[in-house]
Amino acid sequence: TEKSPRFSRILLKLSGEALAGNKDMGIDANILDQMSLSIAHLVGLGVQVGIVVGGGNLYRGSQLQKDGLVGRVTGDQMGMLATVMNGLAMRDALERRNIKTRLMSAIAINGVVEQYSSRNAIRFLKSGDVCVFVAGTGNPFFTTDTAACLRGIEIEAKLILKATKVDGVYNKDPNKYDDAIRYEHLTFDQVLDEKLEVMDLTAICLCRDHDVPLQVFNMNKAGALLSVVMDGNEGTRVSK
Ligand code: UDP
Repeated sequence: TEKSPRFSRILLKLSGEALAGNKDMGIDANILDQMSLSIAHLVGLGVQVGIVVGGGNLYRGSQLQKDGLVGRVTGDQMGMLATVMNGLAMRDALERRNIKTRLMSAIAINGVVEQYSSRNAIRFLKSGDVCVFVAGTGNPFFTTDTAACLRGIEIEAKLILKATKVDGVYNKDPNKYDDAIRYEHLTFDQVLDEKLEVMDLTAICLCRDHDVPLQVFNMNKAGALLSVVMDGNEGTRVSK
């Protein structure tokens, strides 16, 4: 008999950088398709999948402000709308792989996305649909990492997965130092005390306070996503 997944419901955070793949800007169609395949595999195993997408490949509010284009609040609104665009592309990529997908936004955009509600999201997840959550938390001065933790807690995900370009959390930058060591397990307090760059502090505190474990792993590594969900043996785990 086939082994059943360790985590029955997950929240996957895909940053804008991850969606851009090898491109400097915009969205990489091949990357989206690869991600969709991996997600299809999970759905096939009965895993309930919620996804939060970032927007940094298109716009970041803080940068737009620095550039002098707009004020911070407007910049953050542009950033949140960027995540909606990424989500639209992600939804279509998933549906091309015959995965039923719901696109739910924290900001109402009638006729384009449906409005987020945790009750509806949980109902959709239970029926086997993938839910893509966009527009972050709907508020300026937050990040999509925080949105991922918030949504993860709301939908009662068993694990929040942060997809990155490295294999986990290291004591120093593995791209710069050959002797960098990867942590297999960290506590939330260790991340906070040692100022390890996992997610922003708001996100880490939310997960700590609500006791939802985090797993940082390399999305570009074949089979990594599956391995995290099957037995959690991949990358770095952050928990109590
Ligand atoms: N953003 C926001 N509130 C949120 C989430 C995101 O204002 O709750 C804005 C913010 O300007 C941010 C941008 O959307 O820079 C894109 O999100 P983020 O930088 O988190 O994307 P990622 O780094 O994951 O690509």
